[in-house]
Amino acid sequence: MRQKMVAGNWKMNGTSNSARDLVSGIKAGLNGQSPEVVVCPPFVYLPIVAAEIANSAITLSAQNMCDQDVGAYTGEISGPMLKDIGCEYVILAHSERRAMYGETDEVAASKYAAALKNNLKPIFCIGETLEEREQNITEDVIARQIDAIINTSGVASLANAVLAYEPVWAIGTGKTATPDQAQGVHAFIRNRIAGHDAGIAESLRILYGGSMNPANAADLIAQPDIDGGLIGGASLKAEDFLAIINAAG
Ligand code: PEP
Repeated sequence: MRQKMVAGNWKMNGTSNSARDLVSGIKAGLNGQSPEVVVCPPFVYLPIVAAEIANSAITLSAQNMCDQDVGAYTGEISGPMLKDIGCEYVILAHSERRAMYGETDEVAASKYAAALKNNLKPIFCIGETLEEREQNITEDVIARQIDAIINTSGVASLANAVLAYEPVWAIGTGKTATPDQAQGVHAFIRNRIAGHDAGIAESLRILYGGSMNPANAADLIAQPDIDGGLIGGASLKAEDFLAIINAAG
């Protein structure tokens, strides 16, 4: 039985005070719900949030990392640094990183390998653009993105990772994939991985991301291959994020 996960990607939002307020509001609203709850603040607020969630059920994730461990990489943050500050997870290959910062499948795979080497669990994002969906190549794109990590790190690496299916056209747009559309792609992902290893596929958590909110979360997460959500906009209000956690179980 896969434990559901609800992860909040705060992106580049907030201040030290609002980060503290947001996470303490989430903490105060938790009452033993079953999903794993993860928050992903900006790098500079990780220590503040880490202090707030000590001895709570909330776990910490970064939003990105460097594929190198140490050295002359100005402006970068490494896996050992994230581990040191208390991160358990790291979001990798988010479509905003792919589209705005030129992260190729190769870069994403290299970061994925570096995270695992440092005992950080990747929340690895995959998803098609609107153009790709309209060209009917969604499955080709998803397959290519998954193969990039399987070919470099092996299918067994997915035992320590989470995938997030995030159709790019649904991110921050208010357009959500329908539960059927999302389920179709999630099933494709799980089947493709099952082609390599059925046990890994069965235990792998695959999150949906793309304008998930308190109104649509329950229907999406009720789908058999959707194991929770990676939430952007709706994770910035404790009340909304908590409503999604409640919808997940
Ligand atoms: C995201 O960027 O991971 C995301 C899902 O954003 P939103 O919920 O705002 O669409």
